[in-house]
Amino acid sequence: RLILGIESSCDETGVGIVRLGPDGSLELLADEVASSVEEHARFGGVVPEVASRAHLEAMAPTMRRALDKSGVELSDVHSIAVTAGPGLAGALLVGVSAAKAFAAALGKPLYGVNHLAGHVAADTLQHGPLPSRCLALLVSGGHSQLLLIENGLASSITEIGSTVDDAAGEAYDKVARLLDLPYPGGPPIDKLARTGNGCAIAFPRGLTGPRDSKYDFSFSGLKTSVARWVERCEAAGEEVPLADVAASFQEAVADVLTSKALRACRDLRVDTLVISGGVAANSRLSGLAAERCASAGVELRVPSPRLCTDNGAMIAALGAHLVAAGAKPSPLDLSTTPGLPVNVVQIL
Ligand code: ATP
Ligand code: MG
Ligand code: FE
Repeated sequence: RLILGIESSCDETGVGIVRLGPDGSLELLADEVASSVEEHARFGGVVPEVASRAHLEAMAPTMRRALDKSGVELSDVHSIAVTAGPGLAGALLVGVSAAKAFAAALGKPLYGVNHLAGHVAADTLQHGPLPSRCLALLVSGGHSQLLLIENGLASSITEIGSTVDDAAGEAYDKVARLLDLPYPGGPPIDKLARTGNGCAIAFPRGLTGPRDSKYDFSFSGLKTSVARWVERCEAAGEEVPLADVAASFQEAVADVLTSKALRACRDLRVDTLVISGGVAANSRLSGLAAERCASAGVELRVPSPRLCTDNGAMIAALGAHLVAAGAKPSPLDLSTTPGLPVNVVQIL
């Protein structure tokens, strides 16, 4: 069975095609992404109207490329999955409208699914089905959450922690701006940090005190601390040691994320950790997670960077898990839900 996935929650228009085998295995046949990130770069963040228009322009060509590259005919598609939330209202509407049109015209089942669960599903394209219990650290541009996943993505996702202020990706983007690096900030900070010393500056680790919430995150204090550091250098007429600041900031983020995730693994007796979302592409985060998981006896799964950031393949993968689990399709009049909570995997 072939599942077509459509993603348009933010600034990437994605169309993916996945083959669901009789044994539940997934095979990735197409993963086409058109990004409007460059149109937003000069604003330092995604401009919703610009993103919606870009989705409108990119949707049909991206769909065409996915079909051409996979050699799949639309008539061979078994079902259509689409991101219904969370995300930007206007952006989501483009993907959902396209998916409804295809589903109605072709008479195929439609699945309106959760973008965040999709980020976790991306990993199953690369590393196979999830074990019956696992933890997922979802770190993206808009979210930072620790999730307990039981009996697969189609059955139960419980949020056990989340950020109380900025998301990890948001912190990267804001700190990049402070350091005059381009948007989005993750990739340039990651690159610059390789030439710096992560122990040079002891930036704060948010919410790690004995009385703090065990699994929640906070990154706004870290961002402010970086801002103060840069201001102090400038006021003293010193050159800002950009690489050391980037590396030390990155170290603080990776340290907090991995220590909290591993603490949750230990407390909940879970032996598999999945890290996904755009920030999972970070080299220090995956490196430190690998070290700490190895010493804790936890299996670590991190999809390759291409699958960490937004794409349609992850939505197709989540759709395939729902089809495999025998889930009912969503109604054809399903609405977009910009604030969809992570525990709602599918809109019914
Ligand atoms: P959400 O999934 O919460 O709706 P989003 O879809 O915009 O948000 P993603 O596309 O998953 O987020 O991730 C984008 C974020 O990932 C950006 O904030 C970007 O800076 C960050 N990012 C990308 N690559 C890296 C990297 N190598 N290191 C750190 N952060 C990165
Ligand atoms: Mg994006
Ligand atoms: Fe995302």
